[in-house]
Amino acid sequence: MTVTIAREDTVAVVTVDNPPVNALSQALRQALVDAVAELDADAAVRAVVLICAGRTFIAGADVNEFGKPPQPPHLPDVVARIEGARKPWVAAIHGSALGGGLEVALGCAYRVAVPSASLGLPEVRLGIIPGAGGTVRLPRLIGPAAAVDLVTGGSPVGARKAEGLGLVDALIDGDLRAGAIAFAGDIAGKPVPQPISERVVPPVEAGLWETAEKAVAAKAKREVAPLRALASVRRASEADFASAMAFERETFLELRGSAQAAALRHVFFAERAAPRPPELAGITPRAIRSAAVIGGGTMGAGIAAALRDAGLPVVLIERDKDAVERGLANVRAIYDGSVKRNRIPQAVADERMAGVVGADDYDLLADTDLVIEAVFEDIDVKRAVFARLSEICRPDAVLATNTSYLDPNAISEGVRHPERFLGLHFFSPAHVMKLLEIVPTDATAPEVLAAGFALARQLGKIPVRAGICDGFIGNRILKVTRAQAERLVLSGATPASVDAAMRAFGLPMGPFEAQDLGGLDIAAFQRKAARARGETPFAPVADRLCAIERFGQKSAGGWYDYQPGDRTPKPSDAVAAIIAEEAAGRPQRRWEEAEIADAIVLPMVNEATRILEERVALRAADIDLVKIHGYGFPRWRGGPMHYAEARGLAAVVAVLDRLSADGLAEPPCEGLRRAAEAGGFSALAG
Ligand code: NAD
Repeated sequence: MTVTIAREDTVAVVTVDNPPVNALSQALRQALVDAVAELDADAAVRAVVLICAGRTFIAGADVNEFGKPPQPPHLPDVVARIEGARKPWVAAIHGSALGGGLEVALGCAYRVAVPSASLGLPEVRLGIIPGAGGTVRLPRLIGPAAAVDLVTGGSPVGARKAEGLGLVDALIDGDLRAGAIAFAGDIAGKPVPQPISERVVPPVEAGLWETAEKAVAAKAKREVAPLRALASVRRASEADFASAMAFERETFLELRGSAQAAALRHVFFAERAAPRPPELAGITPRAIRSAAVIGGGTMGAGIAAALRDAGLPVVLIERDKDAVERGLANVRAIYDGSVKRNRIPQAVADERMAGVVGADDYDLLADTDLVIEAVFEDIDVKRAVFARLSEICRPDAVLATNTSYLDPNAISEGVRHPERFLGLHFFSPAHVMKLLEIVPTDATAPEVLAAGFALARQLGKIPVRAGICDGFIGNRILKVTRAQAERLVLSGATPASVDAAMRAFGLPMGPFEAQDLGGLDIAAFQRKAARARGETPFAPVADRLCAIERFGQKSAGGWYDYQPGDRTPKPSDAVAAIIAEEAAGRPQRRWEEAEIADAIVLPMVNEATRILEERVALRAADIDLVKIHGYGFPRWRGGPMHYAEARGLAAVVAVLDRLSADGLAEPPCEGLRRAAEAGGFSALAG
């Protein structure tokens, strides 16, 4: 039974029980309509409480019905039926009232909530807008300005804020059911508030729509849903209820079938699946209740903060006392930044900082559950660290390396109990970036691999399992991105035109700006190592820039020039001259923005296909998550693999064939041709 009805004197309590999140399945929608009919007909009932079992109020649509034709009763009709009930309904909210859940609550005459509840309309994050009156009732209840924020931003608000907005009528401390029944008893018999659909929208401030449009457009860039959500709130504020509802529904149905919504749904499902890979089903992870980080530089400090943010006590080990102080100062700087940006209060920052113990000897690690190494990218330094950890740590302590490019198998040689060793590759800044590549060695035990995934869940990260190769999944593809960017500037494009094209594609910055920000020296170091292995990485211009120590912003110049104290990239004559020399004898051509994006993104897809075939990544969707959460690939494009499939793999192969015929990319790999014939990457799985 998804809905049960109990009577408490003259108050009926309708309890929704549809685990795990009381999603609005067809069965639940029908049961709600039936409950209204039953209680309307019951003369003994004077008010109704709508409450949910389990951990949350109705948290939204049923994801199993995503992308399928909607079955009646449709949600707008369910909400209208509750709003038109002959008894006042009181929504009693705990957990989250999200999307359709909040729309159901808006159909009720009153909303009460526990202080810890949150309420919101996150539909824009899935490329759609609310489709059951959210954009139409909200401005009638809380005014257009507040409605714009809630609907276009997609972020939920806490119950206290919701009460201030007029979205919640009363906060209930203590037992929600008892409090809501008492509330319903009080209002029973009193005049029922006017249904929201019949209310007049409060007048808007002059210029509200124009200001909102600019702000939403600037933030959304090329994402469609936020602006369409704004248009729907505006229409709702200017038109009568029925025509506003029609407009909202039409927009909702149109967006639901859009490419952006399909991409965002794909990412939503990929993110949901990532923390619990099927290959680890039934395996109990090793418990992690305490952690240590070796090395307090850029990565070590960020990892320490990420561990503290998840509540783990952390020991931070550095080489000597001065280095310990520097490492602790690096962590403190992270928390100072969070306080300055109002992310956390000072007291929380102090408490987290107090949980980081700095030390220059390993004795404190004798009972630590997890140690993450983030020292210099040098195999001998790393091996020495793990030799020491092998002596000190418990035999079942999990030992991890944060190496970017070294081989974790090689690092773990000599580690005692190598089954407890794995790679945990964080991204910079590690307390912010969501991606965690989890890299088992040949010896890693399943419960240790599972501990990596459990840790990711604890830290709020998106874990992706990666096999061992140079750069794992993300950085291996990044090498192709950079090589392609160089091929472009050697054939007629400029660094500025390439960066502009990639920003237009949806990335936060282009490949040259990104190199200048991160520093060209790290990649140069990797190329040197690759050449020593007999490989031939392609970076003629970057090699020359490094030879004259143009390492990027940190050396006052890289692919661009910079004025002191100014991070704005300025095209560089010196770089243009180097490019011209390196380009001598190569055919030059004009490049349109879309062609530039193709010449970068499609070779990434080609490399990603190899990664999939080699089983360095187990799923195409994992590669999408890596690029979205580690490298800024636009979420609304679904990641490179989804983008390629949506574009049509045959078309992708055709573009790559043309580029490779002109010497501008490698030819499409066999796997990509096979996937194109089969119509998708799933042909390569298994
Ligand atoms: P970093 O130079 O900022 O920090 C390294 C720290 O390790 C220094 O503070 C150093 O004093 C300390 N250290 C060196 N030897 C030590 C030892 N024996 N014992 C204790 N501490 C020691 O370097 P980083 O950028 O933080 O990189 C660290 C690791 O993380 C490298 O393996 C790197 O490849 C990897 N990584 C870096 C990034 C990035 O973007 N910077 C991203 C992912 C992974």
